Amino acid sequence: MGTVRSASSGDRRWSLWSLPRQALVYVLSVDLLALIAIAATTAWPVPAGAWPVFGVLAGCAALHLHCSRWIERIRRDHSHLPHVDLCSIWMLAGALVLPPSLAVALVVLVYAHRWWVVGRWDASRPPHRNVFTTSMMVLATSAAGAVAGVTGLREHLASGRPSGWLDFVGLVGAGAAQWLVNTALVAIVILLTVRPRSVRDAVGSASDNLLEAGQLAMGVFVALAVAWWPGFALPMVVAAVALHRTVLIHQLELAARTDAKTGLLNAEAWHLQASLELDRTRRQPPGATVGLFMIDVDHFKDINDTHGHQIGDAVLRRIAVALSGAVRRGDAVGRFGGEEFAVLLPGVEPGEAEAIAERIRRQVHQVVADDAEGGRVDGLTVSIGIAVWPSVAEDTVEGLLAAADAALYEAKRQGRDQVQVAGRHRRVRWMPAARSEHPGA
Ligand code: GH3
Ligand code: MG
Ligand code: MG
Repeated sequence: MGTVRSASSGDRRWSLWSLPRQALVYVLSVDLLALIAIAATTAWPVPAGAWPVFGVLAGCAALHLHCSRWIERIRRDHSHLPHVDLCSIWMLAGALVLPPSLAVALVVLVYAHRWWVVGRWDASRPPHRNVFTTSMMVLATSAAGAVAGVTGLREHLASGRPSGWLDFVGLVGAGAAQWLVNTALVAIVILLTVRPRSVRDAVGSASDNLLEAGQLAMGVFVALAVAWWPGFALPMVVAAVALHRTVLIHQLELAARTDAKTGLLNAEAWHLQASLELDRTRRQPPGATVGLFMIDVDHFKDINDTHGHQIGDAVLRRIAVALSGAVRRGDAVGRFGGEEFAVLLPGVEPGEAEAIAERIRRQVHQVVADDAEGGRVDGLTVSIGIAVWPSVAEDTVEGLLAAADAALYEAKRQGRDQVQVAGRHRRVRWMPAARSEHPGA
């Protein structure tokens, strides 16, 4: 998007020289390719009639940036939010109606302005990241522009009368080319730097991509509007700012539900989802079940003491990934603070719950994290307490949590790195204050 949902997701420290070698080579290659593309476009003549259109698109983009600068500042303060950049509207329009030299000039101008308005004081966005974002967009709009040129669409737009299926294909094809090039360039840098779980995660969520498609559709309409008369683009500034604001609200809602360190649900959101799920299960015919796990990392304090808090945090993130990977998509995985996690698994029976918990326990054994001094954290273990409703008669989330917590206490008492099911053993009273005094192995 101008999807730079990208490189920002996850890591504030993205300084050029600290990038992994492959990522550094990749970033510099994309920058170089963009420079070559810019140099190549200078060969194109600029008809006099293109200048007013360029002026209007640059003006609309500037107005959009100006009116949405407070949105961008909130995003800067929540830099863990997926980074959505709605400038594609103007840049795709530029790619469709302007000669290539002005289309890339528009990209450079928009990103320079964007940096000036919101990015200048943002230490988490060093200049090379803005350069890289600009380079990606130069390449993406060049691809869109090439499609517009080859299909004859740009010429038809210049005469003000595009029509028919070929022009339709040109419009859709140009939007698709911009999306494809941008998404691929962004996905590669994410794969090389943030190392997400899968290519799918790097390509972005369905809603990210819908938003991208929405912006590109708006860009197409801006192109059609300016072909009639440049001033017709102005109302789209209102639509762009409105969309920008809606996106921010959605992102803030998401952030309010998310544990910033691990990306899992935070305790409140987990609790709400668990309550809704338990209510739903209780309304179902007899036989419906719901499982709840309390998971606590064993001897986590020692990891902090030996390797430092940052490595402790990295371990938490990796354990979160292992947990999410070991359960189904619909299961609610939350971080309860510290090194404690809770999972709600609708529809699992006690035997099944135990098998899943065992799988989690074994997967945590595979988790490793390297510290800066070349040390390695491995051999991690977790203790897991399970409560399954209605085998455990408690029918509130608090009651089930207390039962699972008692089972977890039992797992700690019996030596850690194990799974215990509530109700199997003598019931241990739940005492929150006693949690930090889990008996030793
Ligand atoms: P046990 O096996 O009994 O669970 O031992 P433990 O060391 O895991 O448990 P304890 O409750 O004694 O220590 C938990 C530690 O987790 C203490 C605290 O400093 C650390 N911790 C809590 N939150 C965070 C966090 O967000 N990041 C890091 N790195 N450490 C955290
Ligand atoms: Mg612990
Ligand atoms: Mg604990």
